Amino acid sequence: ARLTAVDADSDERAIEAALRPRSLAEVVGQQRVREQLGLVLDAAKARGRAPDHVLLSGPPGLGKTTLAMIIAGELGAPLRLTSGPAITHAGDLAAILSGISEGDVLFVDEIHRMSRAAEEMLYLAMEDFRVDVVIGKGPGATAIPLDIPPFTLVGATTRAGLLPGPLRDRFGFTAHLEYYEPDELDRIVHRSAGLLDVHLTAEGSAEIAGRSRGTPRIANRLLRRVRDYAQVRADGTVSLDVARRALELYEVDEQGLDRLDRGVLDALCRRFTGGPVGLSTLAVAVGEERETVEEVAEPFLVRNGFLARTPRGRVATPAAWEHLGLDVPRNVTG
Ligand code: ATP
Repeated sequence: ARLTAVDADSDERAIEAALRPRSLAEVVGQQRVREQLGLVLDAAKARGRAPDHVLLSGPPGLGKTTLAMIIAGELGAPLRLTSGPAITHAGDLAAILSGISEGDVLFVDEIHRMSRAAEEMLYLAMEDFRVDVVIGKGPGATAIPLDIPPFTLVGATTRAGLLPGPLRDRFGFTAHLEYYEPDELDRIVHRSAGLLDVHLTAEGSAEIAGRSRGTPRIANRLLRRVRDYAQVRADGTVSLDVARRALELYEVDEQGLDRLDRGVLDALCRRFTGGPVGLSTLAVAVGEERETVEEVAEPFLVRNGFLARTPRGRVATPAAWEHLGLDVPRNVTG
């Protein structure tokens, strides 16, 4: 997935890896997904067979990579990682598939961004455990069928709707991850603080949880930033006051909106007088990629009632105007 400047730092990534739950039992929240997935895995283990292919969908940072690792872990199988954007040719996928051993778990992050030709190769691999490797070009080209051992594909996508139907249908189990509730994030912050040896108060934790956009990755990131602040500007303890001051410094507001979220609302209200405005125009106005606005900012803004997607484009809700401290125009209704 797209990384922010903070995530790109390798130390930060090492910490993130250290905070990953290693088993389904350690995963906080996502009760239904945990139960369903647990059943799929237990049944496969009991039969001694590779489980059905699994599709994980949901906004970034909710635990798709974590679940893929857990699936491999619970099966005692190696996890092979790749991502849609890395598969630009069918040949890239053929190379990966031909290296697979029986029972391996192949994780394809951002699977909706794979090339068309690779997608078609993947259908066959998922269904018949076979690929046709094309040797040569033009009239002399021949397809050599290659058997691949049974494996489990775990695909991750920000929205299952982005996948072509035939690909989606070949997953035996689809889990949709939802944004986390504040009390679940609170548990995640406590858990992470324990692992990182951070001293925090109940109120400090709740404050971080409440501003984490329903997203564990953000909760962990904010915890690390607040910890920095606590160590440098306070006595090391993450209290309510320390959390508030630090989060203000990092421009995360009371409702958890970050700079991108506010940028989107600001452009929508001020530049386009509340919309409707097309996604591409909006993305240009905030200087971001279309996908980033659509897959990172929008799901959260929609869920929290700040933005609506209409057939004619994106529109700001009264809550958006109010959040920016602007008067709600008369023609805008809830
Ligand atoms: P992306 O789609 O961008 O790859 P993701 O959905 O795969 O994101 P992860 O990388 O799995 O997200 O999770 C981000 C971080 O959040 C992990 O480091 C992990 O520690 C934490 N995390 C995610 N889900 C949970 C959970 N249910 N309980 C505890 N921690 C979690």
